Amino acid sequence: EAKRAGRGRFRVFEDGMDAALRDRRELEIDLRRALALKQFSLHYQPFIDLQTERTIGFEALIRWDHPVRGRVTPADFIPLAEETGLISKIGEWVLRTACATATTWPDEMSVAVNVSPVQFKSDNLIETIVSALAHSGLPAHRLEIEITEGALLEDTSNVLKTLHALRDLGIRISMDDFGTGYSSLSYLQKFPFNKIKIDRSFVQGADEGGDNEAILKAIAGLGLSLGMAITAEGVETPEQLARIRGEQCTHVQGYFTGRPMPADGIATFLQA
Ligand code: C2E
Ligand code: MG
Ligand code: MG
Ligand code: MG
Repeated sequence: EAKRAGRGRFRVFEDGMDAALRDRRELEIDLRRALALKQFSLHYQPFIDLQTERTIGFEALIRWDHPVRGRVTPADFIPLAEETGLISKIGEWVLRTACATATTWPDEMSVAVNVSPVQFKSDNLIETIVSALAHSGLPAHRLEIEITEGALLEDTSNVLKTLHALRDLGIRISMDDFGTGYSSLSYLQKFPFNKIKIDRSFVQGADEGGDNEAILKAIAGLGLSLGMAITAEGVETPEQLARIRGEQCTHVQGYFTGRPMPADGIATFLQA
């Protein structure tokens, strides 16, 4: 009896595995076709200078509108795109589209583009970026590249080479989601970032004071003394905004100051 129940459970588990694998295979097949079928779009979220209270740029965030599944979030397909190598073509499309769109904005506004760790380590990253700038006519100083610590983990000398090549072109580099995962304060000294984006877990967790507030203060203080701009991510309330002002952050990005929006919403947003 017990044996039979056990076997039954195993079968259910196996069928569950099959379903998950099938689902992943289907998603992969669809992802391969998504570019050609024009299912991707970019949304843009403003970031604001706390001193002047002006929008100084927008971060490009990819969206995938799947004909059956509806909108698939980047967290659900970027890892798959990385595993399958599709990220290089998708990333190239993001860079070209974001740069072209930014040329329609006021001159002083930047566009920030996320580059995943796999993409960051690919041999043709610099070439792709240079080509996107050349095709769009966007000046290099209006492009920011956002990387996460995953891009920094191995092969320090190649990472440094790439970062310096970007800096030499006049492109700015932001450390995204800082404070999560393995990030180490020594990264801030070792790598030439222009900006640190403090992960929203610290910003939102700082409401109650305590450890998160202390960490926020420490990162902002260290970054500033190393000459970097500090963005607080994920600010959703006026209380959080007031707090990060007190912690010497230089920039803010979050639902409170502006949600990600399609490119055609930007002109209206900037008028308001
Ligand atoms: P990220 O680069 O840290 O982007 C910020 C994420 O936080 C975005 O989620 C944004 O919509 C969300 N967000 C912004 N303000 C708030 C807030 O106040 N509260 C909350 N709860 N969330 C907020 P999204 O668009 O789902 O993107 C998730 C991640 O996917 C991004 O994190 C980035 O790592 C990755 N990603 C997005 N677009 C691209 C892309 O074009 N290429 C690559 N390689 N990765 C991308
Ligand atoms: Mg980002
Ligand atoms: Mg982030
Ligand atoms: Mg993130």
